[in-house]
Amino acid sequence: MVSVQLLKLLSVASLCCFIPLAASAQDKRAAAKLLTLQKSPPVYVRNQRDQSKWPGMVREGVDAGREYFGNYGPVYVYILGHEDKTLNSEAFHRRLVAEYCKHRGAGVKKRREECRDGPGAELIKKAISGRGDAYLSFVGDTDPPLAELVFINPHQFRDPYLYTRGIHEYTHVFQRAFPTTPTWMTEGGAEFFACYLGEKKGWAKLRRDMAEFMKNAQRAKDAKLGIKDMEDVDEVSPAVKKYYRHLAYDAGAWAFALMIHKSKSRSIAEVPKKFYPLVAKVGWQRALAQYAQVDNKQAFYRAFDAFLKLPLDEQLKMLEGLKE
Ligand SMILES: [Zn+2]
Repeated sequence: MVSVQLLKLLSVASLCCFIPLAASAQDKRAAAKLLTLQKSPPVYVRNQRDQSKWPGMVREGVDAGREYFGNYGPVYVYILGHEDKTLNSEAFHRRLVAEYCKHRGAGVKKRREECRDGPGAELIKKAISGRGDAYLSFVGDTDPPLAELVFINPHQFRDPYLYTRGIHEYTHVFQRAFPTTPTWMTEGGAEFFACYLGEKKGWAKLRRDMAEFMKNAQRAKDAKLGIKDMEDVDEVSPAVKKYYRHLAYDAGAWAFALMIHKSKSRSIAEVPKKFYPLVAKVGWQRALAQYAQVDNKQAFYRAFDAFLKLPLDEQLKMLEGLKE
């Protein structure tokens, strides 16, 4: 899930109410290559001549995530590719690539040049192709490590999906402040929060969107695959990877919701405050078992498989049982 890997989405908790970590904990996180709470907001690199609504939508989505999770980073947001092709100017592309490769070069001219001719040139190629893409790429070899949120041809995502995509990507920024979780939990968590926080902003409908996800989750089930097969997308066979979307995002969002439902409080707000710190303490497998009050991850997977067999209205009723 690192580098140029496709990773795919409000609330009321404001920054004032977020308790910052003690300095020593911050230091440990930096050493462990994790993102940390920041004073500065994300840095945006975009074409200032672009007057379209798309960059603003990306920012609003990202800000909805920051309001809820806290201001983690450092984050650099790159927005490139435009509906109006005349905005794809060479001058802007040169500036964007220079910014992009500044971190990757770490002061070494040769590495900066390699970045410019490699991943930098690749970005511009994608922008000019007109295809839409959005992902988080994590840069771990800088000190401190940083997250890049790259939005290419954002107009391809349409309105209002681009907002929730912003939340989805920012959820990954928050997740990067904690140790790794399995692919289904990473992507499923980002999808769940995109719908949940998106609904509060009027950009999504949790119930409707989750019902849609369930259709895809059932397709994976029909192929005799489950979230247990999607713990690390980089390790799965091509036959399983065909169901990446279904297992990680669609089934993952439901499994994430079920985990919250099986927790003591059933509270969504407790997930960032209690579950992720528990992952940092005991690792994701024990955290999942403890948090969902089951014996181990296999027991959770069995519970989820049983849940997938329920009628849709009962599955949707589970969502109503979740607390703020
Ligand atoms: Zn993602």
